[in-house]
Amino acid sequence: MKSQEHIAPTPQIPPLVANRYWQATLDRDSQADGSFVFAVTSTQIYCRPSCPARRPRRINTVFFRTPQDAEQQGFRACRRCRPNRLDPAVTLVRQAAAMLAASHDDPFRLSALASKLHSSPAQLRRAFHRVTGLAPKEFEQAFRLRKLKELLRSGSSITDALYACGYGSSSRLYEKTNSHLGMTPASYRKGGEGMKIGYTIGNTTLGKVLVASTDRGVSAVYLGENEKELVNALREEYPKAELLRAEHGHDEWLNEILRRVEGTAPNMELPLDVQATAFQRRVWNELQKIPRGATRTYTQVARALGRPRSVRAVARACATNPVSIVVPCHRVIRTDGTLAGYRWGLQRKQKLLEREAERAR
Ligand SMILES: [Zn+2]
Repeated sequence: MKSQEHIAPTPQIPPLVANRYWQATLDRDSQADGSFVFAVTSTQIYCRPSCPARRPRRINTVFFRTPQDAEQQGFRACRRCRPNRLDPAVTLVRQAAAMLAASHDDPFRLSALASKLHSSPAQLRRAFHRVTGLAPKEFEQAFRLRKLKELLRSGSSITDALYACGYGSSSRLYEKTNSHLGMTPASYRKGGEGMKIGYTIGNTTLGKVLVASTDRGVSAVYLGENEKELVNALREEYPKAELLRAEHGHDEWLNEILRRVEGTAPNMELPLDVQATAFQRRVWNELQKIPRGATRTYTQVARALGRPRSVRAVARACATNPVSIVVPCHRVIRTDGTLAGYRWGLQRKQKLLEREAERAR
């Protein structure tokens, strides 16, 4: 190994941390960008973790926390990944996230967070919006809820999960999660265990429609030919929930959805009870603003959300919409005018759009 003598001593990076950095390097983990750089002793070049270039051998690799450290040791910045040009907004958001993770402060104060980061609330708000598409407050809530969901799924008790996430009291947790998760923590646990979901199947000119709901709102709207397949899809979504076929339940919700399938104007607001990430919720809200008879492209929706580069994420949020028709994901099409996909079949999407266009006139 001709480069052996060039291996720079890096006493500041403990071996266990270096192992983690190496894994992130192998994974080309863009989330790790900004927390370290790796340098290659055989080429004297250093890179950010996500660099697309071929991975070096472990023995030729050293890690530094900052680009400056690497340059002090004589390494040059890679021209492909530009590790010395990290976006300052990304750095700021990353630092803020680390602080939120470490603190259990409740309530969240933007001004306090900004001053700890030597930034201003306005600057922080802009950085969050550009990097995550969320306001800092929304990010903080989504961040906590994600942690909470993980804990509940892994079987922690509600009280333990609650304190681990920094919620001050049980009632506050229920207050927040009712509006954000769409389910109380108890029913969120383990695939909807302990949850009661009623469903009805109606006939339309587009085939069968399954409408599932809890006491609080509509949880699923599926379209298809085969009742059994529709019920199986619901079972997959809520493997542990108690599913009850209700002949009479929320008839007014079913009737409203049947009207909309036929392209008729909405007659009432439909309450929703769905699980969603903060981003999915934003996309679905945006879709509900598309007027009947009109369409938008994925790009237009991404722009309307202030996230012009998140076209794929928008498409994913459309594809995972559990309440078709009510959240009209069928009104989103490709920029070239083609329909793109639809979970319930392209023909149905086409027909929905045609009849909405006709009846909206
Ligand atoms: Zn590179």
